[in-house]
Amino acid sequence: MSDINPPVNPMTTRALSDPQTELRALYDQLDNEVADLGPVCQLSGRCCRFQEYGHTLFVSSLEVQFLLSRAPEPERLLDQGQTCPWQDARNRCTARGARPLGCRVYFCDPAYQDSGEDLSERFIARLKQLTEKHDLPWNYAALHRHLHQERDRGVFQIDLAIDCS
Ligand code: SF4
Repeated sequence: MSDINPPVNPMTTRALSDPQTELRALYDQLDNEVADLGPVCQLSGRCCRFQEYGHTLFVSSLEVQFLLSRAPEPERLLDQGQTCPWQDARNRCTARGARPLGCRVYFCDPAYQDSGEDLSERFIARLKQLTEKHDLPWNYAALHRHLHQERDRGVFQIDLAIDCS
């Protein structure tokens, strides 16, 4: 006779409850919802040139860990928030699979703006629930603040742009 409640495999449980695995699943769901809405990307690159277009990319600690553990070598030096280190010379993201929620949901397409805001709110709320569930720090701050902090801790190897002190 088989067990009604077979013993739980601790490896499986750990894998399913790994916050980064859950974050990956959350990103996949967000990507699917964005794809359903079909916003147009014309590769203007404005989403990644923060200062030039007057916006800031906010990310949580969990997202920074995810990004730094999966992103390739940066394309640019680390500045003070003007640009993203992973944007290449052709305005492309070289860290697509690891990019944060804010990058996945941002599109310039005017027809998408209302839906994009709704998506952003819903998924940030879910991201926050995920971090609380795992008792992780939220620390929602500008990408560059995190990157400078991780560089100072020796976790992120990158040279500074010339105007960085
Ligand atoms: S991670 Fe990629 S999409 Fe996000 S700001 Fe950087 S280059 Fe742009």
